[in-house]
Amino acid sequence: MIIEDINIHDDPSMQAEFNPWLAAEARFNEAAMKLGLDEGLTKVLKSPAMEVTIHIPVMLDDGRLEVFTGYRVQHSLARGPAKGGIRFAPDVSIDEVRALSSWMTWKCAVVNIPFGGGKGGVICDPKILSPGELERITRRYTAELMDILGPERDVPAPDMNTNAQTMAWIMDTYSMHKRQTCTAIVTGKPLDLGGSKGRPEATGRGCLIVTLQALKRFGIDPKLSRVVIQGFGNVGGMAAKLMFKAGIKIISIIEYDGAVYNADGIDPNALEQHRQETGSITHFPGGVDMDPEEAMFLECDVLVPAARENVIHSRNAGRIRAKILCEGANGPTTAQADKILEEKRVFVIPDILANAGGVTVSYFEWVQDRQGFFWNEDMVNERLEEIMVNSFRDVVAYGDQHKVNNRTAAYMLALDRVAFAIKLRGIYA
Ligand code: NAD
Repeated sequence: MIIEDINIHDDPSMQAEFNPWLAAEARFNEAAMKLGLDEGLTKVLKSPAMEVTIHIPVMLDDGRLEVFTGYRVQHSLARGPAKGGIRFAPDVSIDEVRALSSWMTWKCAVVNIPFGGGKGGVICDPKILSPGELERITRRYTAELMDILGPERDVPAPDMNTNAQTMAWIMDTYSMHKRQTCTAIVTGKPLDLGGSKGRPEATGRGCLIVTLQALKRFGIDPKLSRVVIQGFGNVGGMAAKLMFKAGIKIISIIEYDGAVYNADGIDPNALEQHRQETGSITHFPGGVDMDPEEAMFLECDVLVPAARENVIHSRNAGRIRAKILCEGANGPTTAQADKILEEKRVFVIPDILANAGGVTVSYFEWVQDRQGFFWNEDMVNERLEEIMVNSFRDVVAYGDQHKVNNRTAAYMLALDRVAFAIKLRGIYA
């Protein structure tokens, strides 16, 4: 997989297909056209409400002063405060942050939670930065954005290379400037600082809930279903454990350095222990090693890409042999691949629905912080299930009604909801 991906990503003919902004635009355009959205509103929904670029000075451990570039984009505030993660990576770009922020608008609208979309990032390489340097980047980034962040304005969360500790630093910096402890400024915080029970499992749990709904639609008994999962990290690992617990058979788990296969099912808890002991999922006694480039194309009921973007593209979508594609990752399928999957009649649970369990429990965290009253885990999971099941039904019903595939239906439903909110508020233009 990794070798193929490196070649493909270096291939100039594939670069437009992999561009996140173009991918977001393609989905948006199709949904807007099918909805018959008027030209003015289309322009409003297409443009981010605000984009901020900052250049932040940070003292490195060796005493040198370095300047890092960071972004925060608020795509839409029509339905509530902007919501979306902050990523630290060397290849962060404004195009990527802009695309991801619009994705967040549509994701929050699909699950009908009262947030708009936002996203942020800092161009830096966390692998070569010390914890102290990362903390100073985080604090200065937050301080520069004091005027645009806020529990009622823009609520960040962790994303690539940021975590609960990063959120604690943001919360502390924001609170210091505000002269009061303000937990609702970020979600994905440690439990002891206003985090929510069930948040670490939420995205994987959301994948399980929508997968069960899709299996039901196909009349497949979950206990007889076979699942392949790509990515054994937060989303994929948690989805694997919860699916295993629900009696679903996981026949293959794919990582970047190898894949495991067992026709009788893999125990993800034992696999995790094996990885902790050996550093890899390969040579697992509970299965056989398999070429990771091939495992994604195994015949199965459900394929869960939960690793990274653009893994299903125009050159390999024809080889997918899953009935259901549950997109745990953001953007695992390119717009060109969508057409191929549609022709093959693969039932796609699009990312803006399938992985929305995370932002849904982030919403619960924000609500609990503002209430100052915390729920037990059963209540979090029950409410998550209700939202995911309702959203799945809404998307599928919308698709059936408008005779479009699930991805287009999810985008149409989201655009419709955001456009409706804008019209209801009235346009201050
Ligand atoms: P993670 O880093 O915890 O896990 C990703 C896993 O995928 C890692 O184990 C990595 O080794 C593996 N991987 C990377 N490239 C691979 C490849 N080519 N083939 C096979 N395995 C590969 O990240 P995560 O938090 O689980 O996020 C995964 C995806 O889900 C991302 O697209 C992310 O944006 C999306 N997502 C995450 C959340 C969340 O709550 N964590 C919420 C919504 C969406």
